[in-house]
Amino acid sequence: MKVGIVGLGLIGGSLGLDLLASESNDHYVWGISRSPETCKQAIAIASVNIASPSIDDIPAQVLEQTDIVIICTPIAAILPTIAALVPKLPAQIIITDVGSVKGLIVEPALEICQKYHQRFVGSHPMAGTAFQGIAAAELNLFRDRPCVITSSDDIEAVAKVRSLWESVGMRIYECCPEEHDRAVAMISHAPVMISASLIAACQKQEDQKILQIAQNLASSGFRDTSRVGGGNPELGRLMAEYNREAVLRSLQEYQLSLQVIIDLIENKQWQELELFLADTQRDRQFYVQ
Ligand code: NAP
Repeated sequence: MKVGIVGLGLIGGSLGLDLLASESNDHYVWGISRSPETCKQAIAIASVNIASPSIDDIPAQVLEQTDIVIICTPIAAILPTIAALVPKLPAQIIITDVGSVKGLIVEPALEICQKYHQRFVGSHPMAGTAFQGIAAAELNLFRDRPCVITSSDDIEAVAKVRSLWESVGMRIYECCPEEHDRAVAMISHAPVMISASLIAACQKQEDQKILQIAQNLASSGFRDTSRVGGGNPELGRLMAEYNREAVLRSLQEYQLSLQVIIDLIENKQWQELELFLADTQRDRQFYVQ
């Protein structure tokens, strides 16, 4: 496959690494990223074959033969990036994105693409780390992780986008953008805010000695519960901004659950608390294998 990746950070850079390292060895990857230094680094780590901040530097023959272009910029830059690129891409090319929200992206992206006779299908590879930028790119980031592809009548485009993500080991789910945003608010966007508020709550400890001891004792449990709250702040802000209603709804549900726990502890209802925790112990399997 000939692939273009726009935005060579954690997600774009990692995708390029996997494609170029694939056993079939039949991919060619060109990249575009804002900073020339990022482009140089992406070539150096074999995430792309060629890269430049400008699409004008990608040879016309390469563009002509490209099967798919993946937009991997921050959420706020996805639509402007598509709008700037599509007039320079050959007609009928398939474009997808990796944005963590889909509702405010897919419909406008489709409109922009159709104006220039391009095709668009949204995706969201559900994989990440706490780090960002090309230096954070890693091999096998996507292996065995779920990836959402947004439903579309363009069967051929869906099949192409599906085969791209399957080729890096992802499990594919198709759903509409609104369903995606509501579900992802529950299991990804709200947890970022909940995990962040846990870190913030710990940092409120005024007794410096206790704070110091807590920081020294924090181990695997705290590492697990604080991981997503310690991630890319711009990404967290954009999740909330672009998926505001669903994130608020999930956080309000969480607030209610937390209040139940507070009430049980305040009222010393230890048996009920254990039952509550037995339910969550049983139900976790439905989310995490
Ligand atoms: P990242 O590591 O910060 O990388 C973003 C890349 O986009 C960088 O190459 C950066 O370029 C470029 N960029 C930044 N601002 C830009 C702008 N205004 N216009 C054009 N390019 C710009 O971020 P990421 O974690 O890979 O996230 C990228 C996308 O993946 C986001 O849409 C996010 O929602 C989605 N996503 C993230 C995760 C995650 O956990 N991180 C998971 C799934 C999906 P330079 O370095 O060249 O400046």
